[in-house]
Formats: sequence, C-alpha cells, structure tokens
Amino acid sequence: MSSANTPFVTRDLAHVWHPCTQMKDHEQLPPIPVRRGRGAWLEDYAGRRYLDAVSSWWVNLFGHANPRINAAVRAQLEQLEQVILAGFTHEPVIALSEELAALAPAGLTRCFYADNGSSAVEVAVKMSFHYWRNVGRPDKRRFITLTNSYHGETLGALAVGNVELYKEIYRPLLMDVISVPSPDCYGRAAGATWAEHSRAQFAHMEAALGRHAHEAAAVIVEPLVQCAGGMRMYDPVYLSLLRAACDRHAVHLIADEIAVGFGRTGTLFACEQAAVRPDFLCLSKGLTGGYLPLSTVMTTEPIYAAFYDEYVKLNAFLHSHSFTGNPLACAAARASLAIFREDRTLERNRALAAHLGRRARELEDHPHVAEVRQCGMIVAIEMVRDQASRAPYPWQERRGLTVYRHALERGVLLRPVGNVVYFMPPYVITPEEIDLMVDVAREGIGLATCA
Ligand code: PMP
Repeated sequence: MSSANTPFVTRDLAHVWHPCTQMKDHEQLPPIPVRRGRGAWLEDYAGRRYLDAVSSWWVNLFGHANPRINAAVRAQLEQLEQVILAGFTHEPVIALSEELAALAPAGLTRCFYADNGSSAVEVAVKMSFHYWRNVGRPDKRRFITLTNSYHGETLGALAVGNVELYKEIYRPLLMDVISVPSPDCYGRAAGATWAEHSRAQFAHMEAALGRHAHEAAAVIVEPLVQCAGGMRMYDPVYLSLLRAACDRHAVHLIADEIAVGFGRTGTLFACEQAAVRPDFLCLSKGLTGGYLPLSTVMTTEPIYAAFYDEYVKLNAFLHSHSFTGNPLACAAARASLAIFREDRTLERNRALAAHLGRRARELEDHPHVAEVRQCGMIVAIEMVRDQASRAPYPWQERRGLTVYRHALERGVLLRPVGNVVYFMPPYVITPEEIDLMVDVAREGIGLATCA
C-alpha cells in the first residue's frame, strides 16, 4: 500500500544494506523511514507513531530529541566538532573522563576512548593481553567467556562472545576462547533461588580458572544480564565470586557494561550490585544518552602504569580510531550524566521499574510463557511451545517476528530476540506508555502462540 513512506522505502532498498537483517525479509515488511523522534516516540513520514520500547537498540536513555542534550550538542557544535585526540585534547573529553572516574567503581581512573561497543571490547581484550606481555607474562593470552554471551561483531569481540547465530559462520576467522557455562538463571532447578543457582554455576568458572589461569589474560562477562543472548539474567553473587577468583588466579576481569551500564539494571553500573571493581569496564550505548557513537574502556592506575615507559621499549598502547573521544559525543555524554544528577533518574526509575515488573508479571499465567524476569529497567518474557516442559519453539518458526509485526501495527517498537519478548525503554517513558507496551506485547504473544 502506498503512503508517504513509499518513496523513502524505494530509495532505501535501492542502496542501503541494513544491519543484522536478511534483506529479502523487506519484500514482506519494508523498513520504516523515521522522520523524527520526540521523547519515547518515533514518527514515520506517514505520520504513524511508534513507542520505542527497545530504546533504539538499547542506546537511548532520555528520549529522542531531548532538549537538554540537544542544547549541549548544539553549543559544542559551535566550538569544535572533531579533533585528533593524539597529541591534542579538548575540554569535553577531559571533563567527561573526570566525571566517569568519579562515578565508576573506585579505582577505575583511566579512560581510553573508541567510538562503538565492539571497538571498546577490542580495546579491553588487546589491553589485557598487552598488559601481561609488558609485565613479562606473554603466555597469558587466552580469554575466558560465558556461554550465551555477546560482546559485539568485530572479530575479537565476536570471538569472545558465544551467540551461535552470529558467530558460527565466522568461526574459522576467530581466536580460540575458553567457554564456561553461564550463570543464567532461566535453567535453575525448580525451587532454587537465583543466588543459589548462580553460586552453583560458579563451580565451572572456578574449575576453568584453576585449569587455565597460567595462560588466561582475562575473563569477560556482561554483568547481570546477557542481553543479546535473550535477556538472560543472573545473581550479583556470581560477580563477587568471580572478582575474588580472578584476584586469586591473577586473571583480569573485563566487565562489558555496554548494554547494562547507565542505569538499565537499577544501579548506574551493574557491577555496583556486587560491589566489585573490574579491571576493565567497557561502556558505550547509553554513555551519550544514545545520541552519538562513543565508547570508553576504563581501567586502573596499575594497569596504566604497565604501559608507561620509554617509547623505544614499545610498551605503549598504540591503538586508535579516527573519531576517538569525539567532542560532540562527549558533550552529549556530559549532558546525559547531568540529567542523571539533576533529575535523580535512578531514584525515579525505581517506581517505573516496579510498575513495569508488576504489569509484565501478569503474563506469567499465559500458557506459552515460561518466565517473566526482571533486572531493573529490563524485563523479558520467555515464549515457549510448552509451559510445563519449557520446550522452546524452533527458531525457524520466527514467533518473535509475529510479535514484532503486531506491535508495529499497534504503534509499538518491540524487537524480540528469538522467542524472548523484552522491554528496555527510555527512562522518559510514562506509566501509561508502559501499560500500552505491555498490553501490545500480550496481544502479540497471543497471536504468535495461537497455532
Ligand atoms: N557488548 C554488548 C553487551 C552489547 O550488547 C553490544 C551491542 N548490542 C556490544 C558489545 C557491541 O556494541 P556495538 O554494537 O556498539 O559495536
């Protein structure tokens, strides 16, 4: 059917190759050209509105076209749009680094910048490896990861992740890693608490560290929620045990908070819930309020010191990206952090999260819902073929796509991961909008599971 969207769709499909997409799907379901965004809403050229329940791939925190972030970016634009960060610096990156050092777990005082999440993971992986080489342990060069984890799409990040769908084809290109069963609580025994399950699962990690510490540079985890792996969640006790074990075995801990950072799990950083300080903290997505591409890897003075030497010793971290620490992105990040402070966002989110959890849990009785789980502002609903046995729907049936299509018709952008319908909304969402989002999800799940 023709609409004001049609000319954009035609032009798009002639030249744009979309991310994470089988382009043939667009024969059935064309991409939606977005003309503008306001708050939690997107609007297309035909005037249809979509509630952005997934924060535009988990990046947006304070709504689209947020006046305060807009003003900060505009003001920065009048001063400086971009400058090389090697040999030069600028106030936005200095101030942002100061602010992040004050907010992150104590001891993470050094910020190394990149411009997307995957690149931050590459930086952390390379830095950890390089640190061990600089301190005379070049044998420590392997990485320990969790099953079902996701850390990005570039080759190093893909290698340390474990979502088969994204990884399998490229396996011949990837470094070999040590995979350890995830503490994900979906698989816990009936009656077991999250803490009991996550604690029990730690035995696998302890064993792997015992076997591989001599050759392991770091363990990399997504703290508390494995997002791309289907919003699978685990208890903070796992992170406490992991921190202690990494210390005992002299292995770094890399916390990939690219998705869960900046309040998604209820605290500014997920690691806070276990009171742990990783050796590397990877941040992106919500770092700029979801405005502009920016990422950072935060680390400690001792790690920084291992790279600080005479140039000719070649101990420096000679890694760079053209747009490292872009001033516009740093200005957006500072404005976003100011909103957290001024609006007491984490406190306000508690009421929103309680409402979201309450409404979503109404779906627990649905015959094709195995679990409704929540961690702060993230809620996930696991659709299954059979509730009693938890037998999953085969992925080929693409049940989540039915939910996606239905939600679009009802004006909500939900983008299930496989059979998992989830909500990760911007923090400007209202209780009424949460109601709409959950009602539409319930209808979609009903449609997707009726046959
Ligand atoms: N790590 C995690 C935990 C992520 O969720 C993502 C993105 N979904 C990435 C890394 C990669 O970030 P980017 O897409 O910006 O490369």
